[in-house]
Amino acid sequence: MSELIQARVTAALESLHLNTAKANLMRHLRAAQERDLSTLAVLDALLTDELTARKERSIVVNTKLAHFPVLKTIDSFHFDAQPTLDRRVINELQTLAFVERAEGIALLGPSGVGKTHIAIGLGMKALQAGVRVYFLSAQDLLDQIHAAQIDGIPGHKQRHLNNVALLIIDEIGYVEFDKKAATWFFQLLCQRYERRSTIITSNKAFADWGEIFGDPVIAGAMLDRYLHHCHVLNLKGESYRMRSRKRSSGEKA
Ligand code: ADP
Ligand code: MG
Repeated sequence: MSELIQARVTAALESLHLNTAKANLMRHLRAAQERDLSTLAVLDALLTDELTARKERSIVVNTKLAHFPVLKTIDSFHFDAQPTLDRRVINELQTLAFVERAEGIALLGPSGVGKTHIAIGLGMKALQAGVRVYFLSAQDLLDQIHAAQIDGIPGHKQRHLNNVALLIIDEIGYVEFDKKAATWFFQLLCQRYERRSTIITSNKAFADWGEIFGDPVIAGAMLDRYLHHCHVLNLKGESYRMRSRKRSSGEKA
């Protein structure tokens, strides 16, 4: 009789796609017998296993969809090596209240000071909390805009950029936008304004946006919106890469 029920439960778990629960069923039943656990405790353990496995799978899938160029975490960031970044501010941002409030984060500073690392670290944190994230460089964005001039940006892609909960645009300032691209970018920021969070990193000051976007009026209008609810973090110092290189070659950093 109990074998029959067990077979039925296994088949039910399979058809409900509760594969982790199915794989662990026997282990939980044995543990229940050995430790005299209640039915409720077995159910609890079984469902917790399933939920944990699902969460892990969705983090793996969403990390792929986020298109990070490399994986970085806030935990692996050496705050002592970057004294111009206030650890308390990053801790506050890690609570992800900024995503909830649709605020922006601008990470500014010269090359190698950790802007992309922090942006990806916050993106990873958001992913782990179930927030959808998409990362692209300003060059990727320009490539998409230019491709769109031929084919038009596919609707689903445009909607994704407009609506993804956290968009990270890396390296604004290395490439210049032509008029059409600047207008498109302005519209993207308008779509996301007060609705969705956008993190940008840039090696240029906001004062240079007129040059980057080829038009001080449109740059001013972008900044007016973007900076309305934005955490601006100015990072300074020598490149971390350069310092590591000096350290490994025995020079004094
Ligand atoms: P940026 O985007 O400012 O040019 P990155 O974030 O790409 O700089 O940093 C360059 C490299 O140095 C990356 O591999 C990054 O992980 C590392 N790095 C930079 N700052 C730190 C830091 N304070 N602690 C740990 N790694 C760092
Ligand atoms: Mg960078």
